[in-house]
Amino acid sequence: MIVPNYIAGKWIEPETEFGNVYNPSRGERIARVPLSGGADVDAAVQAAFKAFETWSKTPVPQRAAVLFRYKQLLDQHAEELARTVTEENGKTIEEARGDVRRGIEVVDFACGIAHLAKGESLPQIADHIDAVTMREPLGICAGITPFNFPAMVPLWMFPIAIACGNAFILKPSEKVPLTANRLAALFTEAGLPEGVLNIVHGAREVVDTLCAHPGIAAVSFIGSSRVAEHVYTLACSHGKRVQAGGGAKNALLVMPDAEPESTLRAVLGAAYGCAGQRCMAGSVLMGVGAAADEWRERMTAALARLKVDDTSANDAADMGPVIDPAAQERINRVIATAPDKGAEIAYRGDNHPDRGFFVGPALIDRVKPEMQIFQEEIFGPVLSMLRPKTLDEAIATMNQLSFGNGASIFTSSGAAARQFTREMQCGMIGVNVGVPAPMAPFPFSGWNKSFFGDLHVQGTEGVLFYTRQRVVLSRWDETYVRQQGW
Ligand code: NAD
Repeated sequence: MIVPNYIAGKWIEPETEFGNVYNPSRGERIARVPLSGGADVDAAVQAAFKAFETWSKTPVPQRAAVLFRYKQLLDQHAEELARTVTEENGKTIEEARGDVRRGIEVVDFACGIAHLAKGESLPQIADHIDAVTMREPLGICAGITPFNFPAMVPLWMFPIAIACGNAFILKPSEKVPLTANRLAALFTEAGLPEGVLNIVHGAREVVDTLCAHPGIAAVSFIGSSRVAEHVYTLACSHGKRVQAGGGAKNALLVMPDAEPESTLRAVLGAAYGCAGQRCMAGSVLMGVGAAADEWRERMTAALARLKVDDTSANDAADMGPVIDPAAQERINRVIATAPDKGAEIAYRGDNHPDRGFFVGPALIDRVKPEMQIFQEEIFGPVLSMLRPKTLDEAIATMNQLSFGNGASIFTSSGAAARQFTREMQCGMIGVNVGVPAPMAPFPFSGWNKSFFGDLHVQGTEGVLFYTRQRVVLSRWDETYVRQQGW
Protein backbone atom coordinates (compact mmCIF):
# COMPACT_ATOMS: atom_id res chain seq x y z
CA MET A 1 0.00 0.00 0.00
CA ILE A 2 1.23 3.47 -0.85
CA VAL A 3 0.40 6.29 1.57
CA PRO A 4 -0.68 9.25 -0.57
CA ASN A 5 -0.11 12.94 0.04
CA TYR A 6 -3.22 15.05 0.58
CA ILE A 7 -3.19 18.28 -1.40
CA ALA A 8 -6.14 20.51 -2.34
CA GLY A 9 -8.58 17.85 -1.16
CA LYS A 10 -7.07 15.15 -3.39
CA TRP A 11 -5.11 12.04 -2.51
CA ILE A 12 -1.97 12.12 -4.62
CA GLU A 13 0.82 9.59 -5.10
CA PRO A 14 3.87 11.64 -5.98
CA GLU A 15 6.47 10.29 -8.37
CA THR A 16 9.37 9.97 -6.00
CA GLU A 17 11.33 7.57 -3.81
CA PHE A 18 9.56 5.74 -1.03
CA GLY A 19 10.36 4.77 2.53
CA ASN A 20 9.01 1.76 4.44
CA VAL A 21 6.39 1.85 7.17
CA TYR A 22 6.55 -1.09 9.58
CA ASN A 23 4.40 -2.82 12.10
CA PRO A 24 7.08 -2.66 14.83
CA SER A 25 5.57 -5.61 16.74
CA ARG A 26 6.06 -7.91 13.78
CA GLY A 27 8.90 -6.23 11.94
CA GLU A 28 6.79 -6.42 8.77
CA ARG A 29 6.39 -3.72 6.18
CA ILE A 30 2.78 -2.51 6.09
CA ALA A 31 3.02 0.44 3.70
CA ARG A 32 5.31 2.61 1.61
CA VAL A 33 5.51 6.33 2.24
CA PRO A 34 6.56 8.90 -0.36
CA LEU A 35 9.69 10.89 0.39
CA SER A 36 8.27 13.97 -1.30
CA GLY A 37 10.27 16.88 -2.64
CA GLY A 38 10.14 20.65 -3.06
CA ALA A 39 7.58 20.54 -5.90
CA ASP A 40 5.10 18.67 -3.66
CA VAL A 41 5.54 21.31 -0.96
CA ASP A 42 4.99 24.03 -3.58
CA ALA A 43 1.75 22.39 -4.69
CA ALA A 44 0.56 22.22 -1.06
CA VAL A 45 1.46 25.89 -0.49
CA GLN A 46 -0.53 26.90 -3.59
CA ALA A 47 -3.54 24.88 -2.43
CA ALA A 48 -3.29 26.30 1.08
CA PHE A 49 -2.94 29.84 -0.22
CA LYS A 50 -6.13 29.53 -2.27
CA ALA A 51 -8.01 27.95 0.64
CA PHE A 52 -6.81 30.59 3.09
CA GLU A 53 -8.45 33.36 1.04
CA THR A 54 -11.89 31.96 1.84
CA TRP A 55 -11.32 30.12 5.11
CA SER A 56 -9.80 33.14 6.88
CA LYS A 57 -12.97 35.12 6.02
CA THR A 58 -15.37 32.35 7.03
CA PRO A 59 -17.36 33.55 10.08
CA VAL A 60 -15.92 32.16 13.31
CA PRO A 61 -19.08 30.23 14.34
CA GLN A 62 -19.03 28.45 10.96
CA ARG A 63 -15.39 27.47 11.49
CA ALA A 64 -16.30 26.27 14.99
CA ALA A 65 -19.19 24.24 13.57
CA VAL A 66 -16.75 22.27 11.39
CA LEU A 67 -14.61 21.61 14.46
CA PHE A 68 -17.64 20.42 16.45
CA ARG A 69 -18.46 17.93 13.68
CA TYR A 70 -14.80 16.88 13.55
CA LYS A 71 -14.82 16.23 17.30
CA GLN A 72 -17.92 14.03 16.91
CA LEU A 73 -16.38 12.07 14.04
CA LEU A 74 -13.13 11.59 15.94
CA ASP A 75 -15.10 10.25 18.91
CA GLN A 76 -16.97 7.85 16.61
CA HIS A 77 -13.73 6.66 15.00
CA ALA A 78 -11.56 6.73 18.13
CA GLU A 79 -11.15 2.96 18.35
CA GLU A 80 -10.29 2.62 14.66
CA LEU A 81 -7.73 5.43 14.98
CA ALA A 82 -6.22 3.79 18.06
CA ARG A 83 -5.84 0.49 16.17
CA THR A 84 -4.00 2.34 13.39
CA VAL A 85 -1.70 3.97 15.96
CA THR A 86 -0.91 0.56 17.47
CA GLU A 87 -0.34 -0.94 14.04
CA GLU A 88 2.22 1.62 12.87
CA ASN A 89 3.76 2.76 16.17
CA GLY A 90 3.68 -0.41 18.26
CA LYS A 91 2.36 1.10 21.51
CA THR A 92 -0.27 -0.89 23.42
CA ILE A 93 -3.90 -0.40 22.49
CA GLU A 94 -4.60 1.27 25.83
CA GLU A 95 -1.73 3.73 25.21
CA ALA A 96 -2.99 4.29 21.66
CA ARG A 97 -6.47 5.08 22.99
CA GLY A 98 -4.84 7.65 25.27
CA ASP A 99 -2.90 9.09 22.30
CA VAL A 100 -6.17 9.58 20.38
CA ARG A 101 -8.15 10.80 23.41
CA ARG A 102 -5.58 13.47 24.28
CA GLY A 103 -5.67 14.65 20.66
CA ILE A 104 -9.48 14.84 20.64
CA GLU A 105 -9.30 17.01 23.76
CA VAL A 106 -7.40 19.60 21.71
CA VAL A 107 -10.16 19.61 19.08
CA ASP A 108 -12.66 20.02 21.91
CA PHE A 109 -10.63 23.00 23.15
CA ALA A 110 -10.40 24.50 19.64
CA CYS A 111 -14.23 24.38 19.35
CA GLY A 112 -14.19 27.33 21.78
CA ILE A 113 -12.37 29.51 19.26
CA ALA A 114 -15.05 32.22 19.35
CA HIS A 115 -14.10 32.91 22.93
CA LEU A 116 -10.39 32.06 22.67
CA ALA A 117 -9.59 34.42 19.80
CA LYS A 118 -11.43 37.44 21.20
CA GLY A 119 -9.49 40.66 21.49
CA GLU A 120 -9.58 43.42 24.09
CA SER A 121 -11.00 46.90 24.06
CA LEU A 122 -10.68 50.09 26.03
CA PRO A 123 -13.12 52.91 25.21
CA GLN A 124 -12.00 56.52 25.71
CA ILE A 125 -8.27 55.75 25.91
CA ALA A 126 -7.92 59.36 24.83
CA ASP A 127 -10.48 62.03 24.11
CA HIS A 128 -12.98 60.59 21.56
CA ILE A 129 -10.64 57.65 20.95
CA ASP A 130 -11.37 53.96 21.54
CA ALA A 131 -8.77 51.17 21.38
CA VAL A 132 -9.52 47.63 20.19
CA THR A 133 -7.24 44.64 19.63
CA MET A 134 -8.08 41.92 17.10
CA ARG A 135 -6.41 38.54 16.71
CA GLU A 136 -6.05 37.54 13.08
CA PRO A 137 -4.74 34.40 11.35
CA LEU A 138 -1.16 34.34 10.05
CA GLY A 139 -1.71 32.65 6.67
CA ILE A 140 -0.19 29.23 5.96
CA CYS A 141 1.22 27.35 8.93
CA ALA A 142 3.29 24.17 8.78
CA GLY A 143 3.56 21.35 11.30
CA ILE A 144 6.34 18.74 11.50
CA THR A 145 5.70 15.87 13.89
CA PRO A 146 7.54 12.91 15.51
CA PHE A 147 6.76 9.19 15.45
CA ASN A 148 5.87 8.69 19.09
CA PHE A 149 2.37 10.23 19.20
CA PRO A 150 0.91 9.74 15.70
CA ALA A 151 -2.50 11.19 16.68
CA MET A 152 -1.94 13.54 19.61
CA VAL A 153 0.99 15.60 18.35
CA PRO A 154 -0.49 16.50 14.93
CA LEU A 155 -3.73 17.29 16.79
CA TRP A 156 -1.81 19.66 19.10
CA MET A 157 -1.24 21.79 16.03
CA PHE A 158 -3.64 21.87 13.09
CA PRO A 159 -7.04 22.05 14.86
CA ILE A 160 -6.01 25.23 16.70
CA ALA A 161 -4.27 26.74 13.67
CA ILE A 162 -7.30 26.03 11.45
CA ALA A 163 -9.81 27.21 14.07
CA CYS A 164 -7.89 30.52 14.10
CA GLY A 165 -8.51 30.84 10.33
CA ASN A 166 -5.15 29.61 8.98
CA ALA A 167 -4.50 27.01 6.30
CA PHE A 168 -2.14 24.21 7.30
CA ILE A 169 0.46 21.84 5.82
CA LEU A 170 1.35 18.81 7.94
CA LYS A 171 4.53 16.77 7.50
CA PRO A 172 3.97 13.73 9.72
CA SER A 173 6.78 11.42 10.78
CA GLU A 174 7.59 9.17 7.83
CA LYS A 175 7.58 6.28 10.34
CA VAL A 176 3.85 6.71 11.19
CA PRO A 177 2.06 8.34 8.23
CA LEU A 178 -1.18 6.33 8.32
CA THR A 179 -2.88 7.93 11.32
CA ALA A 180 -2.27 11.43 9.93
CA ASN A 181 -4.02 10.61 6.66
CA ARG A 182 -7.02 9.24 8.55
CA LEU A 183 -7.16 12.41 10.67
CA ALA A 184 -7.25 14.51 7.49
CA ALA A 185 -9.93 12.35 5.85
CA LEU A 186 -12.20 12.73 8.88
CA PHE A 187 -11.70 16.52 8.95
CA THR A 188 -12.80 16.64 5.30
CA GLU A 189 -15.83 14.50 6.15
CA ALA A 190 -16.64 17.05 8.86
CA GLY A 191 -16.89 19.74 6.18
CA LEU A 192 -13.42 21.30 6.09
CA PRO A 193 -13.01 22.93 2.66
CA GLU A 194 -10.36 21.49 0.38
CA GLY A 195 -6.86 22.92 0.74
CA VAL A 196 -7.29 24.13 4.33
CA LEU A 197 -5.43 21.06 5.60
CA ASN A 198 -2.78 19.44 3.39
CA ILE A 199 -0.38 16.61 4.09
CA VAL A 200 3.02 16.23 2.45
CA HIS A 201 4.82 13.07 3.50
CA GLY A 202 8.57 12.83 3.53
CA ALA A 203 11.71 13.51 5.49
CA ARG A 204 14.44 16.15 5.61
CA GLU A 205 13.84 17.62 2.14
CA VAL A 206 10.19 18.42 2.93
CA VAL A 207 11.14 19.84 6.34
CA ASP A 208 13.86 22.10 4.98
CA THR A 209 11.63 23.29 2.13
CA LEU A 210 8.82 24.15 4.56
CA CYS A 211 11.25 26.07 6.81
CA ALA A 212 12.55 28.16 3.92
CA HIS A 213 9.39 28.58 1.82
CA PRO A 214 8.37 32.22 1.41
CA GLY A 215 4.68 31.25 1.38
CA ILE A 216 4.75 29.87 4.91
CA ALA A 217 4.23 32.14 7.90
CA ALA A 218 4.83 29.85 10.87
CA VAL A 219 6.36 26.47 11.68
CA SER A 220 5.44 24.17 14.57
CA PHE A 221 7.89 21.35 15.20
CA ILE A 222 7.99 18.49 17.69
CA GLY A 223 10.83 15.96 17.69
CA SER A 224 14.39 15.51 18.93
CA SER A 225 16.36 18.51 20.24
CA ARG A 226 18.94 18.23 17.44
CA VAL A 227 16.30 18.61 14.72
CA ALA A 228 14.26 21.10 16.80
CA GLU A 229 17.27 23.42 16.95
CA HIS A 230 17.91 22.98 13.22
CA VAL A 231 14.27 23.76 12.34
CA TYR A 232 14.19 26.72 14.74
CA THR A 233 17.37 28.24 13.31
CA LEU A 234 16.45 27.64 9.66
CA ALA A 235 12.83 28.80 9.85
CA CYS A 236 13.71 31.86 11.98
CA SER A 237 16.39 32.82 9.48
CA HIS A 238 13.60 32.88 6.87
CA GLY A 239 11.54 35.21 9.01
CA LYS A 240 9.00 32.70 10.29
CA ARG A 241 7.35 32.41 13.64
CA VAL A 242 8.61 29.12 15.14
CA GLN A 243 7.77 26.86 18.07
CA ALA A 244 9.99 23.77 18.32
CA GLY A 245 9.67 21.16 21.05
CA GLY A 246 12.68 18.86 21.57
CA GLY A 247 13.83 15.85 23.57
CA ALA A 248 14.02 15.39 27.30
CA LYS A 249 15.40 13.64 30.36
CA ASN A 250 12.79 13.61 33.09
CA ALA A 251 13.30 12.74 36.76
CA LEU A 252 11.05 10.65 38.97
CA LEU A 253 12.04 11.61 42.48
CA VAL A 254 10.83 9.31 45.24
CA MET A 255 11.01 10.57 48.82
CA PRO A 256 11.11 8.12 51.76
CA ASP A 257 7.52 9.12 52.65
CA ALA A 258 6.02 8.35 49.18
CA GLU A 259 2.87 6.22 49.16
CA PRO A 260 4.24 2.89 47.82
CA GLU A 261 1.38 1.45 45.74
CA SER A 262 0.34 4.48 43.72
CA THR A 263 3.98 5.59 43.32
CA LEU A 264 4.99 2.20 41.91
CA ARG A 265 2.16 2.33 39.36
CA ALA A 266 3.10 5.89 38.39
CA VAL A 267 6.84 5.16 38.09
CA LEU A 268 6.27 2.03 36.00
CA GLY A 269 3.84 3.85 33.70
CA ALA A 270 6.13 6.86 33.31
CA ALA A 271 9.30 4.88 32.62
CA TYR A 272 8.06 1.93 30.56
CA GLY A 273 4.76 3.21 29.11
CA CYS A 274 5.00 3.56 25.31
CA ALA A 275 8.25 1.55 25.71
CA GLY A 276 9.86 4.71 27.12
CA GLN A 277 9.24 6.57 23.86
CA ARG A 278 7.59 9.67 25.34
CA CYS A 279 9.14 13.10 25.64
CA MET A 280 7.63 13.04 29.14
CA ALA A 281 8.94 9.55 29.95
CA GLY A 282 10.47 9.29 33.41
CA SER A 283 13.98 8.15 32.56
CA VAL A 284 15.81 8.86 35.85
CA LEU A 285 14.65 7.37 39.14
CA MET A 286 15.98 9.12 42.20
CA GLY A 287 15.34 7.25 45.42
CA VAL A 288 16.23 9.85 48.02
CA GLY A 289 18.11 8.57 51.09
CA ALA A 290 16.71 5.33 52.48
CA ALA A 291 14.24 5.05 49.56
CA ALA A 292 16.86 3.78 47.05
CA ASP A 293 17.34 0.12 48.12
CA GLU A 294 13.65 -0.33 48.77
CA TRP A 295 12.76 1.02 45.32
CA ARG A 296 15.29 -1.09 43.49
CA GLU A 297 13.70 -4.18 45.00
CA ARG A 298 10.16 -3.04 44.32
CA MET A 299 10.95 -2.11 40.71
CA THR A 300 12.75 -5.34 39.80
CA ALA A 301 9.87 -7.41 41.18
CA ALA A 302 7.36 -5.35 39.18
CA LEU A 303 9.41 -5.50 35.96
CA ALA A 304 9.50 -9.28 36.12
CA ARG A 305 5.67 -9.20 35.92
CA LEU A 306 5.52 -6.83 32.92
CA LYS A 307 4.02 -8.53 29.83
CA VAL A 308 5.96 -7.47 26.73
CA ASP A 309 4.19 -8.63 23.59
CA ASP A 310 2.95 -8.06 20.02
CA THR A 311 0.55 -5.17 20.64
CA SER A 312 -1.31 -5.64 17.38
CA ALA A 313 -2.31 -9.17 18.47
CA ASN A 314 -2.49 -8.93 22.25
CA ASP A 315 -4.64 -6.20 23.82
CA ALA A 316 -3.42 -7.25 27.27
CA ALA A 317 0.27 -6.50 26.55
CA ASP A 318 1.76 -4.06 29.11
CA MET A 319 4.53 -2.93 26.79
CA GLY A 320 5.22 -3.09 23.06
CA PRO A 321 8.27 -2.78 20.83
CA VAL A 322 10.35 0.29 19.98
CA ILE A 323 9.84 1.97 16.64
CA ASP A 324 12.51 0.48 14.35
CA PRO A 325 15.64 -1.68 14.15
CA ALA A 326 17.92 1.36 14.48
CA ALA A 327 16.28 2.36 17.79
CA GLN A 328 16.37 -1.27 18.98
CA GLU A 329 20.08 -1.58 18.27
CA ARG A 330 20.95 1.80 19.81
CA ILE A 331 19.01 1.14 23.03
CA ASN A 332 20.41 -2.39 23.41
CA ARG A 333 23.91 -0.94 23.06
CA VAL A 334 23.23 1.69 25.75
CA ILE A 335 22.11 -1.06 28.15
CA ALA A 336 24.96 -3.44 27.32
CA THR A 337 27.68 -0.84 27.75
CA ALA A 338 26.32 0.71 30.97
CA PRO A 339 28.50 -1.51 33.22
CA ASP A 340 31.68 -0.38 31.33
CA LYS A 341 31.26 3.01 32.99
CA GLY A 342 30.56 1.62 36.45
CA ALA A 343 26.75 1.40 36.43
CA GLU A 344 24.98 -1.83 37.35
CA ILE A 345 22.23 -3.59 35.38
CA ALA A 346 19.69 -4.25 38.14
CA TYR A 347 17.16 -5.77 35.74
CA ARG A 348 17.02 -6.59 32.05
CA GLY A 349 13.94 -8.31 30.65
CA ASP A 350 14.26 -10.78 27.78
CA ASN A 351 10.80 -12.33 27.80
CA HIS A 352 9.45 -10.90 24.53
CA PRO A 353 8.70 -12.10 20.99
CA ASP A 354 11.75 -12.76 18.79
CA ARG A 355 10.44 -11.03 15.71
CA GLY A 356 9.64 -7.31 15.82
CA PHE A 357 11.70 -4.51 17.32
CA PHE A 358 11.52 -5.45 20.99
CA VAL A 359 13.79 -4.29 23.78
CA GLY A 360 13.19 -5.82 27.21
CA PRO A 361 12.64 -3.32 30.04
CA ALA A 362 15.85 -2.39 31.87
CA LEU A 363 16.71 -0.82 35.23
CA ILE A 364 20.26 0.51 35.54
CA ASP A 365 21.41 1.26 39.09
CA ARG A 366 24.31 3.34 40.46
CA VAL A 367 24.28 5.74 37.51
CA LYS A 368 26.45 8.83 38.09
CA PRO A 369 25.74 12.35 36.78
CA GLU A 370 28.89 12.35 34.62
CA MET A 371 27.76 9.24 32.68
CA GLN A 372 26.37 9.55 29.16
CA ILE A 373 23.45 7.32 30.11
CA PHE A 374 22.36 10.05 32.56
CA GLN A 375 22.96 13.01 30.29
CA GLU A 376 21.45 11.84 27.00
CA GLU A 377 17.90 10.99 26.04
CA ILE A 378 17.68 7.21 25.48
CA PHE A 379 14.05 7.08 24.32
CA GLY A 380 13.52 3.43 25.19
CA PRO A 381 12.39 1.27 28.13
CA VAL A 382 15.45 2.05 30.23
CA LEU A 383 15.31 3.65 33.67
CA SER A 384 18.52 4.94 35.28
CA MET A 385 18.70 4.96 39.08
CA LEU A 386 20.65 7.55 41.02
CA ARG A 387 21.01 7.57 44.79
CA PRO A 388 21.04 11.15 46.07
CA LYS A 389 21.26 11.54 49.84
CA THR A 390 19.04 14.60 50.04
CA LEU A 391 16.37 16.45 48.08
CA ASP A 392 18.84 19.33 47.59
CA GLU A 393 21.37 16.97 46.00
CA ALA A 394 18.70 15.40 43.75
CA ILE A 395 17.52 18.79 42.48
CA ALA A 396 21.07 20.08 41.93
CA THR A 397 21.97 16.92 39.97
CA MET A 398 18.92 17.11 37.69
CA ASN A 399 19.44 20.81 37.13
CA GLN A 400 22.82 20.08 35.49
CA LEU A 401 21.00 18.58 32.50
CA SER A 402 20.58 20.55 29.32
CA PHE A 403 16.92 19.52 28.91
CA GLY A 404 13.94 21.03 30.72
CA ASN A 405 10.71 19.20 29.97
CA GLY A 406 9.30 17.47 33.05
CA ALA A 407 10.04 16.16 36.54
CA SER A 408 7.90 14.44 39.16
CA ILE A 409 8.15 14.09 42.91
CA PHE A 410 6.40 11.43 44.98
CA THR A 411 5.96 12.41 48.60
CA SER A 412 3.49 12.98 51.42
CA SER A 413 5.27 16.20 52.35
CA GLY A 414 3.90 19.49 51.07
CA ALA A 415 7.19 21.18 51.94
CA ALA A 416 9.25 18.76 49.81
CA ALA A 417 6.75 19.11 46.94
CA ARG A 418 6.88 22.89 47.17
CA GLN A 419 10.67 23.04 47.15
CA PHE A 420 10.82 20.65 44.18
CA THR A 421 8.16 22.58 42.26
CA ARG A 422 9.99 25.87 42.71
CA GLU A 423 13.60 24.77 42.26
CA MET A 424 13.54 22.27 39.38
CA GLN A 425 14.69 23.90 36.16
CA CYS A 426 11.97 22.54 33.90
CA GLY A 427 8.59 23.59 32.60
CA MET A 428 6.26 20.75 33.62
CA ILE A 429 6.14 19.43 37.18
CA GLY A 430 4.26 16.47 38.62
CA VAL A 431 3.43 16.10 42.30
CA ASN A 432 2.45 12.46 42.81
CA VAL A 433 1.80 12.34 39.03
CA GLY A 434 4.14 10.24 36.86
CA VAL A 435 3.61 11.89 33.46
CA PRO A 436 2.75 15.56 34.08
CA ALA A 437 1.81 16.21 30.43
CA PRO A 438 -0.53 19.22 30.42
CA MET A 439 -4.11 18.79 29.21
CA ALA A 440 -5.44 20.66 26.17
CA PRO A 441 -6.18 24.08 27.74
CA PHE A 442 -2.58 24.37 29.02
CA PRO A 443 0.67 24.87 27.10
CA PHE A 444 3.14 22.01 26.66
CA SER A 445 5.73 23.99 28.46
CA GLY A 446 9.29 22.71 27.83
CA TRP A 447 12.33 24.78 28.83
CA ASN A 448 16.04 24.87 27.88
CA LYS A 449 16.99 22.36 25.13
CA SER A 450 13.52 20.83 25.31
CA PHE A 451 11.99 23.86 23.60
CA PHE A 452 13.12 26.49 21.12
CA GLY A 453 10.87 29.48 20.71
CA ASP A 454 8.53 31.56 22.80
CA LEU A 455 4.89 30.44 22.59
CA HIS A 456 4.42 26.71 23.24
CA VAL A 457 2.04 24.31 21.51
CA GLN A 458 -1.47 23.72 22.85
CA GLY A 459 -3.81 25.77 24.99
CA THR A 460 -4.07 29.51 24.90
CA GLU A 461 -0.39 29.81 23.87
CA GLY A 462 -1.35 27.83 20.76
CA VAL A 463 -4.03 30.41 19.93
CA LEU A 464 -1.53 33.25 20.44
CA PHE A 465 1.05 31.45 18.28
CA TYR A 466 -1.34 30.97 15.34
CA THR A 467 -2.67 34.54 15.38
CA ARG A 468 -1.22 38.01 15.21
CA GLN A 469 -2.59 41.05 16.86
CA ARG A 470 -3.85 44.24 15.29
CA VAL A 471 -4.52 47.30 17.44
CA VAL A 472 -7.13 49.74 16.11
CA LEU A 473 -7.49 53.26 17.46
CA SER A 474 -10.68 55.03 16.31
CA ARG A 475 -11.55 58.69 16.79
CA TRP A 476 -15.23 59.58 16.48
CA ASP A 477 -16.22 63.01 17.75
CA GLU A 478 -19.94 63.20 18.65
CA THR A 479 -20.01 66.99 18.12
CA TYR A 480 -20.17 66.07 14.42
CA VAL A 481 -23.58 64.43 14.96
CA ARG A 482 -24.90 67.49 16.78
CA GLN A 483 -23.56 69.80 14.07
CA GLN A 484 -25.65 67.86 11.57
CA GLY A 485 -28.72 68.55 13.71
CA TRP A 486 -29.40 64.74 14.01
P1 NAD B 1 13.05 13.31 15.00
O1 NAD B 1 13.64 14.60 15.43
O2 NAD B 1 13.96 12.26 14.45
O3 NAD B 1 11.94 13.56 13.85
C1 NAD B 1 10.93 14.52 14.02
C2 NAD B 1 10.53 15.05 12.66
O4 NAD B 1 11.66 15.69 12.06
C3 NAD B 1 10.07 13.97 11.69
O5 NAD B 1 8.96 14.43 10.99
C4 NAD B 1 11.28 13.76 10.79
O6 NAD B 1 10.93 13.39 9.48
C5 NAD B 1 11.96 15.11 10.80
N1 NAD B 1 13.44 15.01 10.69
C6 NAD B 1 14.23 14.02 11.19
N2 NAD B 1 15.52 14.30 10.95
C7 NAD B 1 15.55 15.47 10.30
C8 NAD B 1 16.61 16.29 9.79
N3 NAD B 1 17.89 15.92 9.90
N4 NAD B 1 16.27 17.45 9.18
C9 NAD B 1 14.98 17.83 9.06
N5 NAD B 1 13.95 17.09 9.52
C10 NAD B 1 14.23 15.93 10.13
O7 NAD B 1 12.19 12.76 16.23
P2 NAD B 1 11.45 11.36 16.36
O8 NAD B 1 12.49 10.29 16.52
O9 NAD B 1 10.41 11.20 15.33
O10 NAD B 1 10.68 11.58 17.75
C11 NAD B 1 11.27 11.37 18.98
C12 NAD B 1 11.79 12.66 19.58
O11 NAD B 1 10.73 13.60 19.70
C13 NAD B 1 12.32 12.48 21.00
O12 NAD B 1 13.51 13.21 21.14
C14 NAD B 1 11.21 13.04 21.87
O13 NAD B 1 11.63 13.48 23.15
C15 NAD B 1 10.72 14.16 21.03
N6 NAD B 1 9.39 14.59 21.38
C16 NAD B 1 9.25 15.81 21.97
C17 NAD B 1 8.00 16.25 22.38
C18 NAD B 1 7.85 17.60 23.03
O14 NAD B 1 6.72 18.04 23.21
N7 NAD B 1 8.91 18.27 23.39
C19 NAD B 1 6.86 15.45 22.15
C20 NAD B 1 7.03 14.22 21.52
C21 NAD B 1 8.31 13.80 21.12
